[in-house]
This record gives sequence, structure tokens and C-alpha cells, in this order.
Amino acid sequence: MKRLIVLTLLLAGVAAQMSPPAMALGRYDRTQKWYCGNTHMHSFWSDGNHFPEMAASWYKNNGYQFVVLTDHNNRPTEEGWKDISRYKAEDPAGTLANEFGHDHVKTKQDAKGKTLHRLLSYDAVSKLVNAHGEFLFIPGEELTSKAGRNPVHMSAINTGKTIGVVQKGTVLETAKANAARARAHEKSYTPPNTLRQMDHPDTRPLFLQLNHPNWRWDMTAEVLAATTDADGFELINPGCHNLGDAHSPSTERMWDIATTLRLKEFLTKPIWAVASDDTHNYHDFEKNATKANPGRGFVMVRTTVLSTYHISQALKVGNFYASTGVVLKTVEFDPKTRELTVEVDPADGGKSYTIEFIGTSKTVSMDSTPAPAHRDKSKGKGKSVPRKITRIYSKEIGKVLQTVKGKTAATFKLPADLLYVRCKVTDTSHKGYTWRGETIPRAAWTQPVGWEPALAELKAAAKTKAKAKK
Ligand SMILES: [Zn+2]
Ligand SMILES: [Zn+2]
Repeated sequence: MKRLIVLTLLLAGVAAQMSPPAMALGRYDRTQKWYCGNTHMHSFWSDGNHFPEMAASWYKNNGYQFVVLTDHNNRPTEEGWKDISRYKAEDPAGTLANEFGHDHVKTKQDAKGKTLHRLLSYDAVSKLVNAHGEFLFIPGEELTSKAGRNPVHMSAINTGKTIGVVQKGTVLETAKANAARARAHEKSYTPPNTLRQMDHPDTRPLFLQLNHPNWRWDMTAEVLAATTDADGFELINPGCHNLGDAHSPSTERMWDIATTLRLKEFLTKPIWAVASDDTHNYHDFEKNATKANPGRGFVMVRTTVLSTYHISQALKVGNFYASTGVVLKTVEFDPKTRELTVEVDPADGGKSYTIEFIGTSKTVSMDSTPAPAHRDKSKGKGKSVPRKITRIYSKEIGKVLQTVKGKTAATFKLPADLLYVRCKVTDTSHKGYTWRGETIPRAAWTQPVGWEPALAELKAAAKTKAKAKK
């Protein structure tokens, strides 16, 4: 089987040189498949506690098809060396030798006689762990900045070198400035000559997700909406106040507000929801789940080929869903009939489900009032600090429009006055996952659909209005 694939690839390579790129597409299986991946994780290259190839291997050995390594402000293109003596108890070098053989573990002494271990570049990790059609390693970077005490983090997926960050006065200014850096990096890509002959000649699609908006109450729904260079945000980052609290809304509520703001006020596409692990700890799987372990939040991406290009492009256009466990077989939106059909995969394993269709009307009021102020205890000198809180909007934003209980499939027909609809499928037979004190359901969240006609109308109306002003 493997030999057959290699042969097919060789022949395909010859064909690609002779035919234009668009024609060459036909040689692939055009059927779309679901690919499971994690888009946010760390390694020894920043504050993760394992070698980058071991970080990737955890996912490869646990049924994922792709991962994106996103170390803080670092996308290594050369190998490096690290003193890992503080991780003695976890024995990372021992597990590395078990996985890849003793010869794979390289050490050297620094000037002071300290032992350093070799860290592979991201490209070397790709070469080592990639398996055609089965597993893919994608290089990325967590752009890690802050504004005052607020962290401003975002994962850039599919990057060629370190992008690095800037710091500005406010959270929004910092988010916008760093998102613009990521976009500039995307545009600066010039493919090497060998790549020009392949299917996807001249672009490196970069997916950008704003991370953990409620971790330290960093980003409001208004920031998620206004950072229009970002494609998505973390709906689920284990242990990061995803459910909100008495003062701040949940990330799911923020998603509906941000999506409605984007469509109605920024006249642009919705923000996509991602679930990711933000993995730091590959060794210590605690029962009470206070460590940032792998295997909690993931995305299921639908595309034709397991390639960096296809996965990144599918993420950019929202051809994926976020999940904490529930696996779907079907997510189909028919733009003609305006029907959204969702079906749970028969192999999912849940015993009963609730399927909710959630959406917002085109005519919803965008009036808002400031949320009551709240101060959080500071970790430092005991002074409290004012929290950034999303404003209070109409309850008609993100309303549950239809609930189907006890079935594994459902269809929702969008009424003409709806701005968008999305679907949430919850496994009600599961007690959910408790991570650092909050219990998240075992669920899947599909992206907003059906918004294109409304967005076209809103854009046309804005144009007419601008003309009338002149
Ligand atoms: Zn972060
Ligand atoms: Zn992170």
C-alpha cells in the first residue's frame, strides 16, 4: 500500500510539471473527509514540558490527523539546544528514546559543562512525524503580547518563520497590530520553485485565532469582533473561564455578540469558534485536571486532502466544527433551501443528545449598555484591578430557535429574517469535563451558516447610505 502511494506521487509529480495547476487537482480524491486536529500547543521551544516531536507524537498516537505547534513568539527554523534538567522527574529524554530510538537523542555540553538536549526545528519535526494521508504537523506560533495587565495572545497557523509581536496601549490596539503582522506574514509568502509546480502554487493560507478571551478576562466580545484580521477565537480553552462568571459572559455568549457585530457593524464574515488544548503538560495527567494536558478540545476540519494548504484553507473559510468530544457525521447547509442538517456520527458513543439551533435575527437591536464594573484581585501587590467586560446586549442575540431532544439528527430551515444560525450538539448522557473548577459539556459546535445573503443586503444598504450622504 505504501509503495503504491509513493509510486502514485511520483507519477503525479510528472503530471504536475506538464499540466496547469487547476487541471492537476483532478488526480486527488475530491471527496471531503473530516480530519481531527489541535491548533494550539507548546513544547520545549517555549513553556511546554516535552520535545516538539514528542508533543506531535502524543496526538499522532491518540487518533488525531494533524497538530499545530504554537510556541510563544517562536517558530524555530533551525535546531536548538536546551537544558532540560529541571524536568528530571518526567524523564523526557527517556520517553524520546523510547519513541524514536536512542540515536535520536542528541546532547552536548555547554561552556559550563551543563548537558543540553537537541531541539528539532519545526520543519525537521514535520519530516520526522508526517505520514502521507494519516498525520500532518503544521508549524505555527502563539503571538504572545499584552496591554497593561491583560494578556493578548493569538495563534497563527501555517507560518514560515517567527512573526514576533508588538505591544500597544489597549487590548484592541495590541490585538489589531499583531493580527496585522500575521496577515503581512501571510502576504509576504513567495513559494520556492519546487512548490510552484504543485497544486497550490502561490499562497500560504494563514489561519489566525484569538486565544483564551476569558483566561484573565483579557478580551471582550467587542475586541473579538473588531479584530477583523482574526479568523477565529477559542470558544474552548480548558480551564480558562469558558463559562464566564457573575460579572462576565461565557465565551459562547461572546461568540454570538461578536458574530452579530461583525456582520451588522463591521460588514464582514462571522468569527469562527475553535476548541483547542493549549497543551503545556505531556506527562502529568491529574485526575482533577488542573494541568494543561492534551486531548480535551479539538477541531474537526472538512477538506479533500490532508495537507498544510488544505487544512489551513478549510479553517479560514469555516469548514470545520469545534468539539470537546462529540463527533458529527454530517454538517450540511443547503444555500438554496436554506436548511442546516446536522447528524451525530454513529460511532460517537453518546447515549442521548440535545441538538440546539441558535441564531440571531437580521433586525436585532445593537443597542448596548455598559456592564457593572468589577475589580479582580491582583496576583501581585494585593491591589485589585478593573476587569474588561463585554457590554450588555439584547437577549435576542444568540437565541435558541429550536431544540431537538433524544435524536441523533436534526434539520433547521432558516426563516428569511434570520442573520445566521449555528448548531450545538450536547451529549446529555455524559456528565461533562471538569477542568480547573468549571464543568464543560461533552459537545460539538458548528460554525454560523446562512449569513451571506444578509451580509450582501447590509453591504448594499451601507453603500446606498454613503451615496445619500454625498
Ligand atoms: Zn496563551
Ligand atoms: Zn498557549
